[in-house]
Amino acid sequence: MQPYIVILGAQESGVGAAILAMKKGYDVFVSDKGIIKDKYKKVLIENQIQFEEGGHTEEKILKATEVIKSPGIPPKAEMVKAIKAKNISIISEIEFASRYTSSPIIAITGTNGKTTTTSLTHHILTEAGLDAALVGNIGISFAKQIAERDAAYYVLEISSFQLDDCYDFHPYIAMILNISENHLDRYDYKMDGYAESKFRLISNLAHNDYFIYGYDSYYVQTGLSKKKTSAHLLPFSLTQPFEEGAWLNSNKLFIKHNQNTFTMNLNQLNIRGAHNAQNAMAAGLAASALNLNNDSIRESMSSFRSLEHRLEETAIKRGVLYINDSKATNVNSVWYALESMDQPVVWIAGGIDKGNDYTKITDLVREKVKAIVCLGKDNRKIHEAFSKVVDLIVNTESMEDAVRSAAHFSNSGDVVLLSPACASFDLFENYEERGHRFKQVVRALPE
Ligand code: ADP
Repeated sequence: MQPYIVILGAQESGVGAAILAMKKGYDVFVSDKGIIKDKYKKVLIENQIQFEEGGHTEEKILKATEVIKSPGIPPKAEMVKAIKAKNISIISEIEFASRYTSSPIIAITGTNGKTTTTSLTHHILTEAGLDAALVGNIGISFAKQIAERDAAYYVLEISSFQLDDCYDFHPYIAMILNISENHLDRYDYKMDGYAESKFRLISNLAHNDYFIYGYDSYYVQTGLSKKKTSAHLLPFSLTQPFEEGAWLNSNKLFIKHNQNTFTMNLNQLNIRGAHNAQNAMAAGLAASALNLNNDSIRESMSSFRSLEHRLEETAIKRGVLYINDSKATNVNSVWYALESMDQPVVWIAGGIDKGNDYTKITDLVREKVKAIVCLGKDNRKIHEAFSKVVDLIVNTESMEDAVRSAAHFSNSGDVVLLSPACASFDLFENYEERGHRFKQVVRALPE
């Protein structure tokens, strides 16, 4: 009998894993508790992959040789518990896919900045002429890419949920950008558990591999002190110079590795803010570890544009700059957004609060924000946190009202910043829809 693989969850990663497993000759069965989106159903049918939706058939699942679990399914789910009770191995799509390539993998994780850093790293590699595929949480899944074509390099964005089910996964360059409070609900509100799962990324690194990490992040520092690795360490910091690593000094970015020193003026970077300087240092260190040429790295760093919904400059209307940072769904991201603003800010914030502690940004809000426009169904926490800090706070429940109010409170030379610190599900489908709506309404404002 052929080995029989069951895949739980039929979205991008699950369907990618199913295609790869079919291609490698396994019997494959995909099971989703919910309704499978049409575009994925179509792919399953086209590839003659057996599947079910709207529930799990236990007898079929518990016969598996191995189960690939989608990252969205919590470990406490009944089906997952039943599989574990039968001692069937559960792995992530990343773990499965990595068995079928020997190309170097640059794997990037962290609480914030993953997508930006992954895209920038990929941009630098491809501009240097390398055959690098951009995979993982961003774009197409790692498994699907391997099934279609094995690339010479992989730049992989990976979340802590995916790392939870990795065992032998072995990147050549691993990056942990930062670790701060997020998704704590999944880890029983324990930072240690969340940080540990991120550090699984470096479990299999050997002495000729690289570990690039955010030195300024407390939880990254403590995580590293607990987890020994023989990999080549390349830290980056906003303040601290290193014998080998990256840092900033007087608005200049330095990267030092293997006798090579790379420098670049920060104003040559097209992405703004201290957070993006950190993302650039991390991507630059990876490029340097791959021995890419300094001029090529510099050129691609300056040609890289900010991604949609991430401090995206949308328009200037009546002298006011409107910025879409809809992806900022936690307080840490907002901290960096506000920190990078030089002009007075009218801040649009709110939505579904994931346990925010606003005290971390009180000082910045006092210094930079002239008015807050709340956009959400329940804005109590924002009022409580800032009523003594900002004179003007108003409530709105639609993007039209929010932008109209923000336009009303701003003067030429100000910035209107949508950086919500919250998830969007009370009023929008997702952060993308929220960002698109913002841009649409802003563009319709009078010039
Ligand atoms: P992720 O993929 O980890 O969610 P993104 O690159 O999509 O990260 O950025 C998400 C949000 O976090 C954006 O609002 C952005 O402004 C902010 N951000 C980006 N990089 C960092 C960083 N290194 N540290 C903190 N916040 C960041």
